[in-house]
Amino acid sequence: MASLLDFSLVDARAALAAREISSVELTRAYIDQMAATAGRNAYITATPDKALAMAEASDTRLAKGEGGAMEGLPIAIKDLFCTEGVLTTAGSHILGGFIPPYESTVSSNLWASGAVMLGKTNLDEFAMGSANVTSYYGPVENPWRSTDAPDKKRVPGGSSGGSAAAVAGRAALAATGTDTGGSIRQPASFCGIVGMKPTYGRCSRWGIVAFASSLDQAGPMTRTVSDAALMLGAMAGHDPKDSTSAAEPMADLSAALGQDVKGMRIGVPAEYRMDGMPREIDALWSQGIQWLRDAGAEIVDISLPHTKYALPTYYIIAPAEASSNLARYDGVRYGLRVDGDSLAEMYANTRGEGFGPEVQRRIMIGTYVLSAGYYDAYYLKAQKVRALIRRDFDLAFETVDAILTPTAPSDAFAIGENEDDPIKMYLNDVFTVPASLAGLPGVSVPVGLSARGLPLGLQVLGRMFDEGSVVRAGRALELAAGFDVSAAAREG
Ligand code: GLN
Repeated sequence: MASLLDFSLVDARAALAAREISSVELTRAYIDQMAATAGRNAYITATPDKALAMAEASDTRLAKGEGGAMEGLPIAIKDLFCTEGVLTTAGSHILGGFIPPYESTVSSNLWASGAVMLGKTNLDEFAMGSANVTSYYGPVENPWRSTDAPDKKRVPGGSSGGSAAAVAGRAALAATGTDTGGSIRQPASFCGIVGMKPTYGRCSRWGIVAFASSLDQAGPMTRTVSDAALMLGAMAGHDPKDSTSAAEPMADLSAALGQDVKGMRIGVPAEYRMDGMPREIDALWSQGIQWLRDAGAEIVDISLPHTKYALPTYYIIAPAEASSNLARYDGVRYGLRVDGDSLAEMYANTRGEGFGPEVQRRIMIGTYVLSAGYYDAYYLKAQKVRALIRRDFDLAFETVDAILTPTAPSDAFAIGENEDDPIKMYLNDVFTVPASLAGLPGVSVPVGLSARGLPLGLQVLGRMFDEGSVVRAGRALELAAGFDVSAAAREG
């Protein structure tokens, strides 16, 4: 039998149902691997005792022939989701010691479907970043190393870097992520796994620490597209506790997985061929186009003319919303408190010590663009441009069923690189941010390696609520590419 760590979610669920393996032995294998790879810092909090108790309960249900869609499957939760009775930090010092008395809707949906919790994964502070280097709990190491500099530790991408590194390094069978401007898709690309951001509103935001409320969306990080479909089905659903949660029923994703792409119209946006993009990424994109064409899809050249405004628009709207959301951390209600001589001084001391430099930068940008005199020039203008970006996609989706682009403009850089230059870091989101602003679903599928042996992903975007087409084209890419998702774990 293959190693317990080699199962996909779908295969492990089948092996559990057939009683070929037990949830306790599967969970133990993951707990051992978490310990063996602890140096990568993918987890902020491990919960092995909780995992084993949940696995035992799953085995009892499985023995009776019962069990939900995720029954007995050990997964990790990004430490942005509140988990009842388990430390929840958002990667920030300011939430030090915060133990939520409630469970996020997404994680509670997962537990209701039988999933087993391994622990809480590391992330950029308040999910702000593209490399998982802004966490108060230190950087996360990508299990992949490059062939040209094998001694250099590489970033896993961000902000869901701990989740991506855990899934790639076999320290979790799957994990949750959140994506505000690319934080599921870009780390999936850097770590050679599948990362899916569903349509805005698909997964409840209730109980997820808020970064930018009009953009934040939870999604699965897995090893295969089928796994992403399975896990998304367990995470999603309308939630009356989140007023932006959608009531729209989910398409039958397992049916979509079984369909090929014959007759699908796939758009290739001219504006994503950017100056200075590495040639190997351009080549991989062309390869992806060819794969889908060979599989029977019709390739259509499209234009998304406002693409170049997406990054500046995002870096106005996201900090604006963040500055408002983060106002609640004042030393009174949650986590850290640093005393002062007056109430105002206590606030200032707590926020000064509790927030790291990137978060402070975003709060300053956010309050600036929202301030009287600048609101119209920046925030209001950005909202108007956001509407134009959304309209570009609406028009494109009148003629195509899905859009294919690269996920990120680079492979995984070394820890320490790009850290002194926030703008350079922000540029990493160039291909993921437009769909976030438009609220569209997207998936990153690992399809190849860069010249220095690091994973690269391609992104499929779909219409609002059309996760079915995203999964369908994503599966076709996965089949054509035949990417070996277990390579990182074997070499690590
Ligand atoms: N890298 C982007 C940022 O820093 C996106 C982060 C995210 O999606 N959470 O804001």
